[in-house]
Amino acid sequence: MQVVRTRSELRDALAALPRPFGLVPTMGWLHDGHRSLFQRSRADNRTSIATIFVNPRQFNEAADFQRYPRDETRDLAICEDEGVDLVFAPSVDEVYLPGFDTTVSVGSIARPLEGAARPGHFDGVATVVAILFDLIGAEHAYFGQKDAQQVMVIRRMATDLAIPTSVIACPTVREPDGLALSSRNVHLAPAQRAAAPVLRRALLAARARWEAGERSGDALRAAMSGPLDAEPLATTAYVSVADGDTLAELDRVADGGPILLSLAVRFGPTRLIDNELLP
Ligand code: AMP
Repeated sequence: MQVVRTRSELRDALAALPRPFGLVPTMGWLHDGHRSLFQRSRADNRTSIATIFVNPRQFNEAADFQRYPRDETRDLAICEDEGVDLVFAPSVDEVYLPGFDTTVSVGSIARPLEGAARPGHFDGVATVVAILFDLIGAEHAYFGQKDAQQVMVIRRMATDLAIPTSVIACPTVREPDGLALSSRNVHLAPAQRAAAPVLRRALLAARARWEAGERSGDALRAAMSGPLDAEPLATTAYVSVADGDTLAELDRVADGGPILLSLAVRFGPTRLIDNELLP
């Protein structure tokens, strides 16, 4: 496995590697969710490439960026273990060149949900992913469905900017108790960690209501809020029942879907998200 840190090292390494390329962009602190993306990339491509870059532009709170967990030695061992061929782990200055002054801003799909809760977040995501897509020129790029809106934003960006990398969404990997794996889970105190599967329970409660025939958006949102409100350590940021293509919030859900159930919940300073796509 090669590890490169500059654009020119990256260019030289890529020139010698066989296509197709599979790309998995990450912010490090790798877990089994990232591993699942590396495995899919390796299975689909002759060369599997990971990026490890904690992107300052996608953090709307400086404190959140500062406390984001980092352990490159461990991350590189995981990449090696998963058969990654090349890791691009650049510095901030290598991604954002001196005088950098361009933002990629995706429209309506980026506005609700995480976009509303975290101003500037998706501009930061779309901008860095556009740069990584351009630098690497992969045929395929793999993202987790855990960040459902992020996948939609990146897909829109790549289509609109004529970037020929196809964006592939992969299933959310979970702990045995249902908590979605996330680099942020490390910040949970034991009691918060014990309470955190309530996100999954809330989503499954709404899914059960939907499967039983409930089609009112408010009733499905209430089905999510119930378990969350009953958990004293959890503070709900939002619960959403939205059109799975446009992310428009729904009064009534149509039969067939797709419908995206999603939520964001704080445990103290730690903010967790999860979602469930219907059907
Ligand atoms: P991050 O390092 O958090 O920016 O995540 C890098 C990629 O891993 C993103 O595409 C995430 O959606 C994906 N990812 C994060 N957590 C999970 C998970 N539990 N299951 C599957 N993919 C995940």
